[in-house]
Amino acid sequence: MSPTPPGRIAIVTGAARGIGAAIAHALTEVGWRVAGVDRSWSGEDEACAIRETLDVTDYEAVANLVARLEAEGEIGLLVNNAGITRDAIAHKMDPADFRLVLEVNLVGPFNACRAVLPGMRARNAGKIVSLTSMNALRGAAGQANYAAAKAGLIGMTKSMALENAGKGITVNCIAPGYIETEMTRAIPSQLREAELARIPAGRVGTPEDIAGTVVFLASPAADFITGQVISVNGGQLMP
Ligand code: NDP
Repeated sequence: MSPTPPGRIAIVTGAARGIGAAIAHALTEVGWRVAGVDRSWSGEDEACAIRETLDVTDYEAVANLVARLEAEGEIGLLVNNAGITRDAIAHKMDPADFRLVLEVNLVGPFNACRAVLPGMRARNAGKIVSLTSMNALRGAAGQANYAAAKAGLIGMTKSMALENAGKGITVNCIAPGYIETEMTRAIPSQLREAELARIPAGRVGTPEDIAGTVVFLASPAADFITGQVISVNGGQLMP
């Protein structure tokens, strides 16, 4: 794989922990200057060259960050990783939780794409990778809000891929299966065991499994891949 040109900036949202932190580590290792975005930081992780405290639902804050970073260097990569769950059966779901999950998981990535795309288009180069979910592809009881937001992200990705393919910009999604993080540790243990039994690979995924796929999609080896949803799930779902 060709090395990343030194100094190119990668924005990773939700980089303080879980999959986002693993992505920040992996990108730093292959030469990206990572600007991590999160709502809060624990102070322990040194993977990100730049740490920014903001909420991806705040378009002005995201646009200001992008403008500041572009004064320092070229943003070559955006990874839309920040996401939340607010699970409940649809007929009992608080409508505010439906809107919140769409706001963070779908409007947040739009905000970041909206902010970075003009610069990428001006340079005829750039890559965007967004974290969708296996549950966007198959549905999930208790996750009407989450599955809707993550399915929306796939439609947004394909549309932006079409709009920007002629400008040398690729836009793709990764659809993780069951990955061991705080998000999945919140699932009741009985459900977690049942989910594990359905994974042909016989294990849950690690944040590093996802990070490796991001590194590939961000590399020149993936220049001809756009508008795709790459499943990383140990064989659990084969659409
Ligand atoms: P975690 O909950 O472990 O980490 C998510 C990070 O995103 C947290 O640091 C969180 O901060 C941050 N974040 C949440 N909302 C915002 C916001 N509005 N603005 C900025 N940062 C925010 O999640 P995972 O690492 O497990 O998941 C990462 C991504 O992968 C998500 O998009 C998730 O939907 C997706 N995914 C995960 C799967 C899994 O099995 N774990 C499976 C499929 C998809 P805070 O601490 O403040 O909440």
